[in-house]
Amino acid sequence: MMLLPDYRVRQRDYLLEISRAITARLDLDEVLRRILRASTTMLAGQAGIIALRSDEGLRVRAVYGISQAMLDYFSPLLADISIREDGVLNIPKLDEKIQKLAHAVELRQVVALPMAVGEEFVGVIYIFRAYGSDFSQNDRRVLQSFADQAAIAVHNARLYANVQRERKRFEAILEHAADGVMILTSDLRVESFNHALSQITGWQANQAIGRAHDDIIVWSCCEPGTDLHAALAEGWPHPDGQPHNDTLYVEGDLVRPDGTKISIGITYAPLLDSDGNLINVIVNVRDITHFRKAQEMTSTFVSVVSHELKTPVALIKGYASTLRREDATWSPETLQHSLQVIEEEADRLTTLIDNLLQVSRLQTGAFAIDLTGDVALDQLAKRVAKNFRTQTDKHEILIDFPPDFPKVPGDETKLRHVLDNLVNNAIKYSPEGGKVQIGGTVNEDKVHVSVSDEGVGLPQDELERIFERFYRVDDALTRKTQGTGLGLYLANAIVQAHNGDIWAEGTPGEGAKFTFSLPKEQ
Ligand code: ADP
Repeated sequence: MMLLPDYRVRQRDYLLEISRAITARLDLDEVLRRILRASTTMLAGQAGIIALRSDEGLRVRAVYGISQAMLDYFSPLLADISIREDGVLNIPKLDEKIQKLAHAVELRQVVALPMAVGEEFVGVIYIFRAYGSDFSQNDRRVLQSFADQAAIAVHNARLYANVQRERKRFEAILEHAADGVMILTSDLRVESFNHALSQITGWQANQAIGRAHDDIIVWSCCEPGTDLHAALAEGWPHPDGQPHNDTLYVEGDLVRPDGTKISIGITYAPLLDSDGNLINVIVNVRDITHFRKAQEMTSTFVSVVSHELKTPVALIKGYASTLRREDATWSPETLQHSLQVIEEEADRLTTLIDNLLQVSRLQTGAFAIDLTGDVALDQLAKRVAKNFRTQTDKHEILIDFPPDFPKVPGDETKLRHVLDNLVNNAIKYSPEGGKVQIGGTVNEDKVHVSVSDEGVGLPQDELERIFERFYRVDDALTRKTQGTGLGLYLANAIVQAHNGDIWAEGTPGEGAKFTFSLPKEQ
């Protein structure tokens, strides 16, 4: 075995220690300190500096044998450094700078080498001697081996910091994504689980992680057609498939741990290694309840509107064509009655179209309310009552407001629309007739207006739903009665826009009472 000279043994031992420190992922500062100590000792120096390149130029990152107070003397050595094409450092006026240094801190010889990874210049290492001979070519060679190690350590630390940053960024994206996301291992166990997915599925991340996909994704009976297992059985993911078009989409109703259901759409995206083996499945879960509701709503809209339009149009056409017949003459009463029907049906169409327009304005955000008016609701109620009295013989429309009922800020046309709707309903849903009372009360900061009737009444569990768009109670009378389920929806929107509230009370068979409250001041 060849015996190495003593310094070569020490150099090898130091390099070994340093590469161990690098692989053990020690803190970069500690690794650089060790490299500097080893280099200074190996080169029989008294002090050393490692400076790293940053956006603001070279910055001292490790020192050996130099006190903090002395560091300022060394800053000229870090200014204006560049690296030549042949990889040699160019330190302008080095001799002059060293002379000054010798004066201040008694360091007389210097050797400086660049630290580089490939083409990239990452920093510089300086070793100083206070006495003894100049640094030799051999010293430079020895120092280069340490500089290379230092450059590797810096490079690794930067890679590691980048990986950490990317990881944090990825975790933040995952956690804050609006869609539910989970990552599955190749055997379909949950590895990550984000906040949105907790909200959709009802599973907490800490309960879900480690569980099988099938524990979390439980489809309600008979759904869906092609699920993850069916796709896997058919050879998904396809090893040669393009990642973007090899996703799998499954839609259905998910059963949550508490038994409730939610409509979801899931996109499964496979993550394959270079050999085409499945590493992970990225699962993106979207709550499609709104989408499904919107689809339902569209079809309800089309059927309600076409039905509601058809009836008056058919009546108008029927009466008009009868009146036009040239082979018949009509008594003045028949003529009067027929024209009245035509007029009423035309009014109904106008109301329907008006309601539809208002709903569409609500949806597009163009629903304007002018709260600057002074509305005397008691006077308004009187006008509404007068108008409806002409339309019914069966009902007695009564008004009950205290004498000094205050005016409220609001939009008179829109509030009239609310009252019209409530009184119209009270008449519509009390086919046997009876009293319809419009009353008002006042308290400290609000006024209340209510419309009550003695009609069919309302079941307890319908009291809130009747304010939903297109919602109509499913009973025999409602089915016989024309309507779109938009009146109360609009009334609610108008009252809300006045910062008020509207609610219903009632018992089946005992009539219904609708009340809205409005603030006295906006
Ligand atoms: P529409 O009357 O056109 O159906 P609304 O939105 O005005 O729509 O009312 C929604 C549903 O609420 C009605 O279909 C009816 O079932 C119920 N409803 C409204 N007002 C009354 C009332 N005064 N008495 C009983 N049920 C009512």
